Amino acid sequence: MALEYVTGMKGLEEEQKKAEAKAKGSGGNFLFLADGESQKFYFMHDPDVAVGYYEHVFQDKGGWQYIPCPENCKLCASEDDNKTKKSFRVAYLVMPADDRKALVLKANTDLNSTILNRFERRGTMMDKPYILTRLGTGIDTKYDLEIDDGKKLPKDALKKLGITETPTKYLQNIFEGQIDRYYGGGKDQQTNAQAVEDMFEEDEAEPAEPAKPAEPLEPDNTATDSAENAEEEEW
Ligand SMILES: [Zn+2]
Repeated sequence: MALEYVTGMKGLEEEQKKAEAKAKGSGGNFLFLADGESQKFYFMHDPDVAVGYYEHVFQDKGGWQYIPCPENCKLCASEDDNKTKKSFRVAYLVMPADDRKALVLKANTDLNSTILNRFERRGTMMDKPYILTRLGTGIDTKYDLEIDDGKKLPKDALKKLGITETPTKYLQNIFEGQIDRYYGGGKDQQTNAQAVEDMFEEDEAEPAEPAKPAEPLEPDNTATDSAENAEEEEW
């Protein structure tokens, strides 16, 4: 039954993959915590490949907008003071411990110094799950980051989630998509949104690509059972 389903759905899966990639820039794939809320997750890479950028946050078009600041930024040039303000953020790809998907954690400077501090002392962020707790709102927002006692992230976790490019490139694509979406795909803003399309053309050119995002929950029987792998989180 299950195999038949996957085979029959293959065409739709391709479409789904494209649709999901387009949605990535829309805000649905960001880790969001309300005041007092916690999330246990894995860092999918270390801070050396995280993406630092400036972000404009303002209300427009019926909601809050979180728009990365590109070269020749129109928002920076805006006469509206609410739009010109921007904050530095560092983006990390994380995977919730209770879910098999990649989310973008946007760390403010406070949280990022905590992450860097832990990284300097421990050498990696990927050997244990972490619990992030948000305390407060607005400019008083603080984050608590605890190391949890749990198994490590599997080495090929990104591939299992269907992410074949580097974390840096993947994050850059998301932000370019966000900018592109806000400006309606206009070419006057240097967004390089074409990169998102290129990503899929590359995928299609490599039919032998083993990553199957629709089956991330399947146990990976091909994984070699080294002593190190035995300590990894099971899929
Ligand atoms: Zn700007």
